[in-house]
Amino acid sequence: MKQDPICKKEIEEDTSFQKEYDGQTYYFCSSECLKTFNEMKKSVIRLKRSLDEKKRVSFGKLNKDVIKPGICTLCGACAASCESIAIEDKRPKIVGPCTSCGVCYNQCPRTMTTEEELVGKLRFAYSAKSLLDRHEGQDGGVVTALLAYGLEEGLIDCAVVTTQSKDQPWKPVAIIAEDRAQVLESSGSMYSHSMTMEQLMQAIQQGMRSIAFVGPSCNIDAVHKMQRSPYGFLHLFMRANVLRLGLFCMDTFSYEGIREFVENHGMRLADIEAMKIRKGKFEFEQAGQISRFSLSEFDEYRSSSCKFCTDMAAENSDISFGGVGTPDGYTTVLARSSIGYEIFNEAVENGFLEARPLEDYEMDRVLNLARMKKVQMYSVNRRSKKT
Ligand SMILES: Cc1cc2nc3c(=O)[nH]c(=O)nc-3n(C[C@H](O)[C@H](O)[C@H](O)COP(=O)(O)OP(=O)(O)OC[C@H]3O[C@@H](n4cnc5c(N)ncnc54)[C@H](O)[C@@H]3O)c2cc1C
Ligand code: SF4
Ligand code: SF4
Ligand code: SF4
Repeated sequence: MKQDPICKKEIEEDTSFQKEYDGQTYYFCSSECLKTFNEMKKSVIRLKRSLDEKKRVSFGKLNKDVIKPGICTLCGACAASCESIAIEDKRPKIVGPCTSCGVCYNQCPRTMTTEEELVGKLRFAYSAKSLLDRHEGQDGGVVTALLAYGLEEGLIDCAVVTTQSKDQPWKPVAIIAEDRAQVLESSGSMYSHSMTMEQLMQAIQQGMRSIAFVGPSCNIDAVHKMQRSPYGFLHLFMRANVLRLGLFCMDTFSYEGIREFVENHGMRLADIEAMKIRKGKFEFEQAGQISRFSLSEFDEYRSSSCKFCTDMAAENSDISFGGVGTPDGYTTVLARSSIGYEIFNEAVENGFLEARPLEDYEMDRVLNLARMKKVQMYSVNRRSKKT
């Protein structure tokens, strides 16, 4: 006796309602059940074909990103959508051929696959560069050039930025910059936490009405929350407009840790001209020479909060900026809010910046890094050293 896979009735094998599928014969009690089976298969095939090339991955990726790290909820959606997957011993297992169609990975509730899930809402993505005379920033100097434009046009009264301490080289100190010289001086990145919020509060208390605020995702989140939360400083934030300029961010390290590391390697922070993190390496430039170290060597100095942070792209900002994606000497820009989009494009039209649309393959690099940040909570020790 066989079972009709649709209505589950027991039936004899000599029924004329039969169907060969994937090397197996299925038996049905009636033409209705056979019809349902045929239609069901066709709809699954249509779904699989609708995925584009980039989304086609194998079950192996679902295993690596979800099942092995232990974040599978056993919802069974993967098994429900593919007969090559079965839930066995309390985990999804591959029990048949995998065509790498990508359906199981893309519909699993634990994966992040869309642009919005990975980097938040945005209007437009650019690769851009400062056109200010003799100005180089951390990447394309775009943050600084935009601030210079905002100040010059009277769009902002001041900017909360971060510069180096006068006494301790490379120690971040947040300041309220009110002119071009001060924003130019604050160009470049320091890879330790900066206490930006105190300066923002001071600027509001000093009566500044339009303030640009620069900081990584967690600092942007603090501003975003204060602008909305009825429990704290909402009344203060009602006095000022704050333009949130977010920096992409994967990690920060303790200042003392960076100093110790540098000194242990025969250098002095006072002699370091530039610091950069790229492609899994921490780079220190001294007298034109670049020393590169694997980021894993800095694990002990990494701020503990960064291990649990999942927002690489400063999703709550008006515009966000990063080095990943575009070529050296350029900044990736994600224009998010209408005010962010307007100001950025005005700065381009007025000759402060040059910009072009970000190419798809460049955006893919941004999305890959963002994905790494999103999943790191589950796999802190598995961070790839390549990106
Ligand atoms: C801690 C940190 C980690 C980062 N990690 C990544 C990363 O993993 N991937 C990536 O693509 N990009 C990362 N970035 C962003 C990148 O380094 C550049 O800041 C960004 O590309 C803008 O470059 P720019 O040349 O346009 O900016 P610039 O014109 O050089 O201006 C940089 C601005 O950043 C501000 N700033 C510098 N250090 C700090 C700080 N510690 N806290 C708050 N504000 C600061 C300065 O005040 C200045 O206004 C990180 C930045 C920081 C500060
Ligand atoms: S769809 Fe994802 S969460 Fe659901 S059972 Fe499959 S692997 Fe687990
Ligand atoms: S064939 Fe099945 S297991 Fe393989 S990717 Fe597609 S849905 Fe996943
Ligand atoms: S990784 Fe997250 S928590 Fe750490 S500094 Fe960057 S934005 Fe803040």
